[in-house]
Amino acid sequence: MRYLSTRGGTPALRFSEALGAGLAPDGGLYVPERLPRLDAADVAALPDDSLAATLTALLRPLLGDDPLAPQLPALCAEAAAFEIPLVPLAGRGDHLIELFHGPTAAFKDLAARFLAAALSALRPPEAPVQTVLVATSGDTGAAVGAAFHGREGFRVLILYPEGKVSPAQAHSLGAFGGNVRALRVAGTFDDCQRLAKQALADAALRAGRPLLTANSISLGRLLPQMGWYAMHALRFQRRHGRRLNFIIPSGNLGNALAALMARAMGLPLGEVLLATNANPTLAEFAAGAPYRGRDAIPTLANAMDVGAPSNFERLRWLAGGDEAAARALVQVRRIDDARIRATVASAGARHGIAPCPHTACGLAALEDLRAAGDTRDWAVAATAHASKFLDVVGPLLAHAPAMPPAFAALLARPARAERIEADYAALRAAI
Ligand SMILES: *Cc1c(COP(=O)(O)O)cnc(C)c1O
Repeated sequence: MRYLSTRGGTPALRFSEALGAGLAPDGGLYVPERLPRLDAADVAALPDDSLAATLTALLRPLLGDDPLAPQLPALCAEAAAFEIPLVPLAGRGDHLIELFHGPTAAFKDLAARFLAAALSALRPPEAPVQTVLVATSGDTGAAVGAAFHGREGFRVLILYPEGKVSPAQAHSLGAFGGNVRALRVAGTFDDCQRLAKQALADAALRAGRPLLTANSISLGRLLPQMGWYAMHALRFQRRHGRRLNFIIPSGNLGNALAALMARAMGLPLGEVLLATNANPTLAEFAAGAPYRGRDAIPTLANAMDVGAPSNFERLRWLAGGDEAAARALVQVRRIDDARIRATVASAGARHGIAPCPHTACGLAALEDLRAAGDTRDWAVAATAHASKFLDVVGPLLAHAPAMPPAFAALLARPARAERIEADYAALRAAI
């Protein structure tokens, strides 16, 4: 299997070459030259007993004869070393797929761990230390920091916007120590991204020290997310004889695209509905307007504050390059901040859970479907644990949600972040 740019203007790469790449040189995104299609017999033979087993089976045709292929089972086992349970909620047919049981309590752990394990496996023993640069609005930086923490041959620099991530997120970013450094940038998330891009484009800097990014558009961060949808869709269909439908809180569209790709490969997922916050890009597109990226607006579900979803081009690719066909692949529901607050506040009584603000967007979309008479089986993706966003959910809940132990242990460590101005000279000096 080879990987091509969505814009078609760059040479084909192997999986292990494309895995950690950001944008392709022509500005497109890497995609497989063709998506493998599993027939009914292949799907019937897929394992569903563990996430690692399902993921290994799904990724195998996507790697083909890649040098990493022999290590694929070990990489998946290392990445997926935690449970992703499907939990029934109080209402009939309502489920939560809890993606937040990794070390930093958000779904980004799985794929960040896969990418780190794969890059480690590819690293020649004598290679110089590689610097992983990551700009984050919160969850990505912690997941990437945790995934590379203590890995020989790598150091991580996390750039985050000062005062614009939750207090728990800020602490977690600075708490790794060792080979993971946090830089608190006096600016916005866009400034952080701009600085990281500038460093990656700085040939003189890169000549002296190898730089990588663990950007969310890399294939290593995208493809592993197919695993949890595939595993639960298989289990559900085998147990109940029906398809499970998914509601996925979305920003850059990575997690939801992975679900759509798994379905396109032949896995028995039902509908995929995207829940967004107040950022209107995807909802307007789904309602029939031509795609138009724009600046993000800040909301309570800040990990989804995206005005130009970076994976949109892959959605269009999945639909054969056609916008109308891409529109037909997804439904979108847009949830504003007032609705997020109301959903968090009522989720205990209505669903028996305390959701994070992102998960609340998904629950609100589910409530809308039920109010319209929908009786199908739906699983809402719980993308982070509520305790990461206590500043938002705390005032709305009678009891503060307890921290998952791994994340609590991270927060119990002392944290340190170096402050830099939002200009490139400051970042270059820090590197
Ligand atoms: C990153 C993130 C999202 C958005 O996921 P995308 O793959 O960018 O659509 C949603 N919720 C949480 C908690 C996140 O960290």
